[in-house]
Amino acid sequence: MKPDVFDIVIIGAGAAGLSAAKILSTAGRSICICEARDRIGGRIHTLKGGEFSGPVEAGAEFIHGDLPLTKALMKQAKVSYYAGKGQTWTVEKNELARGDLFDDNWDILLTKLRQLEHDITIGEFLKTFFNEPKYQSLVEGVTRFVQGYDAADVNKASALALREEWANENIQGYRPIGGYSLLVEHLWSEVNHLHGVLKLSTVINKIVWRNNYVEMYSDRNEKITARKVLVTVPVSVLKSGAIKFDPPLAQHQEALQQLEVGGVIKFLVEFKGPIWERRGPSKFNRMPALNFLFSDAFIPTWWSQRPAEIPLLTGWLAGPVVQNLPQDDNVLLSQAISSLAYVFGCETAALEKEIRAAKVFNWYVDPYAQGAYAYKTLATSTAVRVLTRPLDNTIYFAGEALYDGPEMGTVEAALASGNKAAEEIIREGFF
Ligand SMILES: Cc1cc2nc3c(=O)[nH]c(=O)nc-3n(C[C@H](O)[C@H](O)[C@H](O)COP(=O)(O)OP(=O)(O)OC[C@H]3O[C@@H](n4cnc5c(N)ncnc54)[C@H](O)[C@@H]3O)c2cc1C
Repeated sequence: MKPDVFDIVIIGAGAAGLSAAKILSTAGRSICICEARDRIGGRIHTLKGGEFSGPVEAGAEFIHGDLPLTKALMKQAKVSYYAGKGQTWTVEKNELARGDLFDDNWDILLTKLRQLEHDITIGEFLKTFFNEPKYQSLVEGVTRFVQGYDAADVNKASALALREEWANENIQGYRPIGGYSLLVEHLWSEVNHLHGVLKLSTVINKIVWRNNYVEMYSDRNEKITARKVLVTVPVSVLKSGAIKFDPPLAQHQEALQQLEVGGVIKFLVEFKGPIWERRGPSKFNRMPALNFLFSDAFIPTWWSQRPAEIPLLTGWLAGPVVQNLPQDDNVLLSQAISSLAYVFGCETAALEKEIRAAKVFNWYVDPYAQGAYAYKTLATSTAVRVLTRPLDNTIYFAGEALYDGPEMGTVEAALASGNKAAEEIIREGFF
């Protein structure tokens, strides 16, 4: 039976919220998850059974390296994974070539980074140590990489955090077979089995609280009560003031302003066949075994699903640039087609004839994400410490941005942060 007052309400059914829900309901606590969207998963969003011919990822896609919580969850969910394989291609100044765009001076950059004793932004680091004209292409390459891969602003991103990331990172990446959503579906099935309650399409916009008692109000004026609340909504949503706290959380609001989240627009373009593999005369540049493609096109990065057979190219535009773009998906889509026509060296009309399905996912304008994932600045660690300190044993926060370590901004970070908050709630007990 549904209790009048839940032990814990969890706001957000992403990886952090669902992983916490599993731990808390396993510990015998009554829980209710309130989720704004009409689906679970948040920034994990596998599209299945629509216009695309197989499962495709609108959000998280890769497992970057040997990540313990993600791998353990995959094992429990009986989901296996495959490694992306194939050839990297580049198109720069209309020239098609094999290989990536990394500069020969990359090793010098890593050596200088290793010698850095105090944190500065990566932008300042480049200005201090690589200001000479001979490093111009290195500086451009690093800037492109920080903006593209970390979705970060070079003038804010921490050089020491990037050093740690670049030392640990397995950029190649693995993908869960059948899609990332299988992992969150597994977590929810376990919570459901333990009688957890899930309220979809429930946007929480107000939290009234006192010690060990919380009232949550939704946009439909529904009131949900609990003894504690775990807030796992993205930090950009919290920063925007979309959820009002009464009494307000002044120190937390201040700390939130120190966190930075990058924007990403993902383009999914499925072709009638892999035009990049065509032999013999073809209108399109041939890129056999295409895995990643880096270019100087407006949408610079594309990748295939190789070795999976679906003829899909995923385009990626990230970092500060996405903040000033038109919000109309059709305009963005035509920019994607122009970028693809450039890298394939063909007319857009010829390319359009080959497309079976295409969709844009602009996470920067998504109201329940307001960005893609967090990156570390010089102020992040202090802010995360403030935000992860429970308030009066009553209000707790979790989510990918509130994990302070090398995996920040990933599904692994979200799972770790959700688990940590759940364990803390259990440890502090209910009075
Ligand atoms: C395009 C893209 C690509 C990515 N690629 C990768 C990758 O390859 N590998 C990787 O590991 N990670 C990747 N990530 C990051 C990863 O997806 C996230 O770090 C992780 O999924 C975040 O989980 P979370 O639970 O912290 O937040 P979320 O998944 O965002 O969950 C928070 C939930 O809160 C809900 N919510 C928001 N506001 C309210 C409200 N007012 N009331 C109720 N509910 C609300 C949201 O709808 C959401 O479901 C990617 C992210 C994006 C956007």
